[in-house]
Amino acid sequence: MDQELHFETLAIRSTHFKDYQTYSVSSPIYPTTTFERMADGSYPGGHVYRRMSNPNQELMEKSIALLEKGEVGIGFSSGMAAMSAIFQSLEAGDHVLLPDDVYYTLIKFLEDVMKRWGLVFSRVNMADLQSVAQSVRSTTRLIWVETPSNPQLKLSDIAALAKYAHAQDILCVVDNTWPSPVLQSPLELGADIVVHSTTKYFGGHSDVLGGCIVLHEGAMAEKLRSIQILGGAVPSPFDAWLITRGIKSMHLRVQAQSQSALTLATFLEGHTKIEAVHYPGLRSHPQHDIAVRQMNGGYGGMLSVLIRGTAADAMALTKRLQLFTTATSLGGVESLVEHRKSVEGETSPTPDNLLRLSIGLEHVDDLIRDWERALS
Ligand code: PLP
Repeated sequence: MDQELHFETLAIRSTHFKDYQTYSVSSPIYPTTTFERMADGSYPGGHVYRRMSNPNQELMEKSIALLEKGEVGIGFSSGMAAMSAIFQSLEAGDHVLLPDDVYYTLIKFLEDVMKRWGLVFSRVNMADLQSVAQSVRSTTRLIWVETPSNPQLKLSDIAALAKYAHAQDILCVVDNTWPSPVLQSPLELGADIVVHSTTKYFGGHSDVLGGCIVLHEGAMAEKLRSIQILGGAVPSPFDAWLITRGIKSMHLRVQAQSQSALTLATFLEGHTKIEAVHYPGLRSHPQHDIAVRQMNGGYGGMLSVLIRGTAADAMALTKRLQLFTTATSLGGVESLVEHRKSVEGETSPTPDNLLRLSIGLEHVDDLIRDWERALS
């Protein structure tokens, strides 16, 4: 497809399935697990068995690869399955460097599972290039970047980190779940691999779990494809169909969510009962200049708020909000609020008084009024 087309057009055209049997405009769903083989041994549709490939999964993978400006998309049944495939591609004894406030389930996965397989990892302030350079070892194979980070919304300079990593022959991987490809293009900034929880902004309606890896063609892409097929953590055709459908409206949702997040963050920053607001779009964000440089068209639908008070005060506040559902996850059409520390556990570096917000598609004036009422 013509790479010169705008993101919006690519999102629509790349998810359009050409069905020459029924000429349906919306794509059919193919639940079949197996495909017929011809006498000459060929498979005319190009598919053999569902764990290996499927028309719905293929359409989704190609679309996500295109939107992320890569060549190969590899779909998974969840974001964690996609992320674990990347770690499974490494060797025992390899070292991985991660941000100090990386998505906490990833740390739990590395601690509980990959450590037993000999993977070594350490955490660093990924926003500080000097600390990154000091933490790299001769065995470091991969630098993991998550920007904005979860839940403190710290930013990392992808271009600088990728440049540094390549000079050391280290892979630079970016979890681009929070900004989505609408706002940030890590491969264009020099990263080697992009990974997504498509459960969030791609799906967009809190009703489907999924993950995807995007990278350029080559040995790593082949290795990850093999892990996907042999490991078998692939999306169901229906899940791939839902994510493909979500892609069509993702740009509009993400732009609206970003605009509302900025408006609400600006309001909350000026409120006397709020200690601090973490949002990359605010001028007060210590790395606002990085956000301006590496994010396009908005700063995302996620923000964190530190309230003046204790953990109990923060928890009580979540129940005074009427338009924010208290629930984990993000990227859906409905606004969510979550007290992260009690979810992540006592050892988490997340402050006790932090509430994480995922902004939905409600009118922002209603969301502001909801906060005004809850704080009064
Ligand atoms: N990466 C980030 C930044 C996330 O926020 C999440 C989930 O919240 C994941 C990965 C994991 O995705 P999934 O829940 O689809 O496995």
